[in-house]
Amino acid sequence: MSVLDLVKQNLNHIKFNDQYRTIPKISNHANKYIELNGLKVLNLSSNNYLGLAENDFLKQYSIEAIKNYGCSSGASRIVSGNYEIYAKLEEAVANFKHTQKALVLNSGYVANISLLQALAKNATIFCDKLNHASIIDGMLLSGAKFYRYAHLDMQMLENLLKKDTSNKIIITDTIFSMDGDAAPLKEIVRLSKQYEALTIVDEAHATGIFGEGRGYAYKEGLSGEIDIHMGTFSKALGSFGAYVASSEDIIDYLINTARGFIFSTSLPPAVIGANLASINYILKNPHLGEKLILMSDNVRHFLKNLGFDVGNSISQIIPVILKTNKAVLVAQKILLEKGVFVGAIRPPTVPKNTSRLRISLRADLDDNDLELIKDAFFYLGNTL
Ligand code: PMP
Repeated sequence: MSVLDLVKQNLNHIKFNDQYRTIPKISNHANKYIELNGLKVLNLSSNNYLGLAENDFLKQYSIEAIKNYGCSSGASRIVSGNYEIYAKLEEAVANFKHTQKALVLNSGYVANISLLQALAKNATIFCDKLNHASIIDGMLLSGAKFYRYAHLDMQMLENLLKKDTSNKIIITDTIFSMDGDAAPLKEIVRLSKQYEALTIVDEAHATGIFGEGRGYAYKEGLSGEIDIHMGTFSKALGSFGAYVASSEDIIDYLINTARGFIFSTSLPPAVIGANLASINYILKNPHLGEKLILMSDNVRHFLKNLGFDVGNSISQIIPVILKTNKAVLVAQKILLEKGVFVGAIRPPTVPKNTSRLRISLRADLDDNDLELIKDAFFYLGNTL
């Protein structure tokens, strides 16, 4: 069978299993209300949790950076794609995360694959089964031996750690992207110490939200116990790109060995300007995330009372687990008719039979928005 025949066959298979995806037509994007295929809906499917993507302060920094440095960096960082605000941003991130150094990478995806490719070659990696796809891809790319322990299962993690004698790395999301639940960081840190493993946390969904914006490890009082903190500017921080914050040696090593850093043009000034502004904005407004978490508690409570399965979410990400792909697609359509847009998350993004709606709340929702959300889910509960 030719590659083209295989493509056709696989596409048909994807369609048959209700896993087919298309790129939605969206206009009026820079708003909590968007126009989706011509329909005005409240967008609860974005990771712009604090609404900073539309923030004037970030826009100003971004415009200023374009004026000063142009539209492109023109080369990778270690050749000539460096400019003053890059170093300023990395200093700001290191201070924010209380680490010796920080390095900015081109996206969260690139950060995870680069980190693991650079550090894990001769190590064994221990990875939560529901860690983000970029971590899985990084493990595969690294060529390292790896184990995936059942989600949050510390007993299984310990059993695996006991069995292995090589250099060890434990890597975990702190807030899981499709479940909104949290890793048991205290226990992970304890096991890391006991079994002499390096600990890496992915704070993509916690940065800007927990611990005065500094992340979930900070909130748990564990910042100093974590070896490598990775996080993104692309979610609550309203911009793009990622950071790795760690010791001087680790950052120096990444600069010299991380292929995703060395062989790619560095981020454009507009992005670095906005990233710097977002860190400054969070420093000035450290409690935005707390407000969002209180709002999330309220919505979660409401959904639970309606009988929906919201898993173990503790964050602004609330799954509504409906199990089948069909149920999720029908529910998404019903909610759209009620003016609310949530993601319909299906395999391979989540395991089979756990298909779900993914609600991501944002801090700038007002009472009217919350009423709209509750009305829509009340209706859904009575319709399904
Ligand atoms: N890590 C996690 C936990 C994520 O959810 C994501 C994005 N969905 C990434 C990494 C990748 O980040 P980016 O979108 O900036 O590439």
